Amino acid sequence: MLAFYPRFVRTFDDLPGHVSLLIHSWSGCNMRCLGCHNYDELIAAKPDGRQLSAAQVIERLSDGCGLFDALLLSGGEFLMNGLAEIEDFLRRARERFDGPVVVLTNGSYPRKLRRLLDNGLLDGALIDMKLPFHQLDPQEDRDIYEAIIGIVPSERRRRDLLESVEAVIRHNSKLSQVRTVRYPLLSDEYFEQIRVFVDTMNRRHGSSVPCFLNPFFPPEVPVSPESSVPSEPSRSLEPLLHS
Ligand code: SF4
Repeated sequence: MLAFYPRFVRTFDDLPGHVSLLIHSWSGCNMRCLGCHNYDELIAAKPDGRQLSAAQVIERLSDGCGLFDALLLSGGEFLMNGLAEIEDFLRRARERFDGPVVVLTNGSYPRKLRRLLDNGLLDGALIDMKLPFHQLDPQEDRDIYEAIIGIVPSERRRRDLLESVEAVIRHNSKLSQVRTVRYPLLSDEYFEQIRVFVDTMNRRHGSSVPCFLNPFFPPEVPVSPESSVPSEPSRSLEPLLHS
């Protein structure tokens, strides 16, 4: 069942030109990213009785509609929830709120994401691309994956992450963004590879989804000096892209 964290946040810069209401589902996350700011409250801590149901969130939306003009759905990973529940929630949210609805996602669920975008239940996505997944092999580059997203993806998951980014770019909403973080463990070449991938997808689909490189805010626990991420990618910088 959908569960939501009871504290909603108004943000002024996540969606340029909008005052957004940021709502977090309390369903955990399948990643453990370096410096995750939601880990303690939303991933390590499980719903403890304070959580809100979907119906309660919808009710709150009606009460506060004048205070924001966009809705941002985050987690944890919002798309971990069941598709039927998500669709039902979004349909009911649309009945109460007529501004744009945008999801923040780590890209693990391309089929749900595509369906929600294609059916107009979402107006856009702020999607993470924290590593150049098209260049990094889950086995050969497992140290990099572990250090940055906290997991080593299967080959299938790696393809899913790329498919999600492509789905967002193909949808080409003015509200969508591909976002990465300037992790100090990574050299500029990683970010350049991400940019090349996004540029290539934009060209392929005639789209113009921007790619943002956001600053890294250090986690409270210092990063181990033994961290073994190579400062540069292990293989050719030529993007492994379809033409
Ligand atoms: S995907 Fe987001 S919520 Fe999940 S661990 Fe990474 S930063 Fe945290």
